[in-house]
Amino acid sequence: MKNIKTSFLYIVFILVVFSFFLLAAEREGKPVLFCSTTQINDFVKNVVGDDCIVYAVLPPGADPHTYQPTPGDAQRAASVDLCFENGLHLEGKNWMATLAKDAGKPIVTCTDGIEPLIIEKSGQTVPDPHAWFDPRNAAVYVRNITEAVCKLDPINKEKYEARARLYLQQLRNLHAWIKKEVSRIPPHRRILITSHDAFNYFGRTYNIDAQAPVGWSTGSEIGAGMTPKRRIEIIESTKKMGVRAFFVETSVNPKLIREIARETGIKIGGELYSDSMGEHGTAGDTYIGMMRENVLKIVKALE
Ligand SMILES: [Zn+2]
Repeated sequence: MKNIKTSFLYIVFILVVFSFFLLAAEREGKPVLFCSTTQINDFVKNVVGDDCIVYAVLPPGADPHTYQPTPGDAQRAASVDLCFENGLHLEGKNWMATLAKDAGKPIVTCTDGIEPLIIEKSGQTVPDPHAWFDPRNAAVYVRNITEAVCKLDPINKEKYEARARLYLQQLRNLHAWIKKEVSRIPPHRRILITSHDAFNYFGRTYNIDAQAPVGWSTGSEIGAGMTPKRRIEIIESTKKMGVRAFFVETSVNPKLIREIARETGIKIGGELYSDSMGEHGTAGDTYIGMMRENVLKIVKALE
C-alpha cells in the first residue's frame, strides 16, 4: 500500500515538473514586446494575440506627458525584443525612446506616416500627439505594428495579418458608428471642453469644436499654462458660446475644470478617457471601449 502511495506521488511529481517545462518551453522563443501607452498595448495585443508576450509601461490612468520611467522600466526594456511608442512627443521628454536607446533595443513609432495636426503651444507650433482619437489614424498605428511584428517573427506572419485585418474592420465599424452617434448633436451644440486638449483629432474628424483650458500638455502640475487672464477669457467665451457641458478626464486632475464649471454654472458632462484607457474590467479597458464610452457620454451631454 505504501509503495502504491509512493509511486503515485512520484508520478504526480513527474507530471508537475513536466508541465512546468512545457510552460517554460511555450514561453521560450516568444517575442517580448514593450509598449509605452495603454492604447498601444491594446493595438499590439489585438495583432499578436498569444503569439508574443506584451508589457506596457503606463498603467491605466497614468499621464504619458509627465511620466518618469522607473528603474524597473529600464530593467524590463533590457529584456524585451522590440519597443513601441506613440511619438510626436506624447511621451514627455521622449522617455520611451530613451528607455529603448539605453537598453539598445529597436523601437517602432506608431504615428509614423500620420500627417499630424499642428497646434500652438506657448507661441510655438508643434505637432499634436493625440492622433489615436481618429480611428483612421488608429488604423495607421495597427499597420505599423503589424509590419514590425511580421518582420520580427515571420513564422507567425499570417496570424498577425489575419488578426490585423479583423481589427481594422472593427476600427472602420467604430468610425461609422461614431459618425452616426455624433450626428444626433445639433451643429451649434458641438462644443467639447475638456481639461487638456487631447480631442483635436476627434473634433476634426467628427465636426466638433474641441477646446481645452489647460493647454496642449498636462504639464508638471494641473493648471500649467493657465493664467488669470486666460481663465477670465475662458469663462467669458464659454458663456457666450452657449457651452452645454464641461468634461473631465480620467488621466488629468479635474480641479481646474470643476472650478470653471462652478463659476460658469455649466454642468460636468462626465469623465472621458483621453491619454489612458480605463482600469482592467471597466467598459473603457480597450481602445474601442474607451472611444464608445466617450461618445456615449458626449452625445448624452450635448444633444
Ligand atoms: Zn495628452
